[in-house]
Amino acid sequence: MHVVVLGAGVVGVATAHYLALDGHEVTVLDREAAVGRDASGGNAGLIAPGHSYAWASPAAPRMMVRSLLGQRTAIRVKPTLDPALLGWGIRFLRECTADRARRNTLVKHRLCRHSHDCINALAASEAIEYAREAAGVFYLYGDEAALQAGWARTSLLRENGEDLRLLSAMEVADREPAFARATSPIAGAIFGADDASGDCELFTRGLAASLERRGVTFQLGETINGLRVDGGSVTGVRTTNGEVRGDAYVLALGTGSAAIARTAGIRVPVYPAKGYSATFAVRDPGACPRVGGVDEGTLVAWSRLGDRLRMSSTAEFSGYDRSWRPDDFAGIIATARRLFPGAADWDTGAYRACLRPMTPDGPPVIGRSRVGNLWLNTGHGHMGWTMGPGSGQVLADLFAGRPTAIEPDGVAPR
Ligand SMILES: Cc1cc2nc3c(=O)[nH]c(=O)nc-3n(C[C@H](O)[C@H](O)[C@H](O)COP(=O)(O)OP(=O)(O)OC[C@H]3O[C@@H](n4cnc5c(N)ncnc54)[C@H](O)[C@@H]3O)c2cc1C
Repeated sequence: MHVVVLGAGVVGVATAHYLALDGHEVTVLDREAAVGRDASGGNAGLIAPGHSYAWASPAAPRMMVRSLLGQRTAIRVKPTLDPALLGWGIRFLRECTADRARRNTLVKHRLCRHSHDCINALAASEAIEYAREAAGVFYLYGDEAALQAGWARTSLLRENGEDLRLLSAMEVADREPAFARATSPIAGAIFGADDASGDCELFTRGLAASLERRGVTFQLGETINGLRVDGGSVTGVRTTNGEVRGDAYVLALGTGSAAIARTAGIRVPVYPAKGYSATFAVRDPGACPRVGGVDEGTLVAWSRLGDRLRMSSTAEFSGYDRSWRPDDFAGIIATARRLFPGAADWDTGAYRACLRPMTPDGPPVIGRSRVGNLWLNTGHGHMGWTMGPGSGQVLADLFAGRPTAIEPDGVAPR
């Protein structure tokens, strides 16, 4: 069968891989000139089943109200009359009960763990180099009470097989000598022993290169304008270069998914959450962390990508706007100076804003849509580097009609 995959982020390229492995002829389309450039090229680099909590939780509505009142919060909402955001927001609020948060976290966790195995297997089978650091991930706390509250929250993931450990400040410094120079107190950390970090864009590029060698076609630099639907099936993809036809289609356009799905009469509950991403050249390797992490006080995340340090923060619901001002990076730079003084020249980062494709409940949407030959693999939110490769594998299982590697309950189109 000829399958057209729409989108060449980590999700689209991984999907193309598993479909090609099943013997399908695959064409991948993207507007960018290279693969893995959009969210997949700006993320924090953490492969983190140990952090797979759903954002929709009992604590989220209070944070959103504080944000609307003008306070600085990790999740921010810009007051807007965008009906898509209003609809998405109502669905998000419905997911903010303790029961729903627990269920959504476990769906994500299952997929994250499976996907981490897929990342490892793909890196080995396709010989992909992607600046991997396998030494775990720190969830760092400056305050003892917050550390204890964070630790209590881990019980759900620990009960479900996640190796999370409570580390004292001394144990943190033993594992990551870069913290010895931190200028603010560290109370301790929760350490995700099975978590890792690495460059998602490099991984996506490496996988695409091996796919090209196996005959997968990449049509890059082509913007998709919509889908042509006839008699209940998609018959083509309208792009700036004409029409691309296949037997089946997989929509993996990240935050571009909702607009293109609409042209086939399908509603995909994906809305962007903007994040800021800065990449710094490492100046003093001894002062720069090797182990990735999240500063839980500021929700700034980092990972070492070879001779660069990637840092990111903030989730802002402000539509599809990708603009940024230097001031948007002030929190990242302050955290960097405080935790890793001297590691890089913090005034010369490469800055960008990018958009997380968020679903209201948290798990992505994977499976066949109402339009028979249109499949969906989108909505990976804040964890698409971790969940993307496994999602490609699950989609290929569903496409083939064979039992899926993990229980697909919770990711079906909704
Ligand atoms: C600041 C930030 C930090 C993050 N940190 C992490 C992290 O540490 N760990 C983690 O697991 N995840 C993280 N994520 C999430 C992760 O990056 C995303 O979930 C993941 O990259 C989504 O992959 P994707 O392939 O679905 O989307 P994308 O990578 O965005 O790819 C979608 C592709 O579709 C193309 N496209 C869209 N519309 C069109 C169109 N009309 N025509 C043609 N092409 C189109 C785009 O060009 C793009 O290449 C982070 C995200 C952000 C923004």
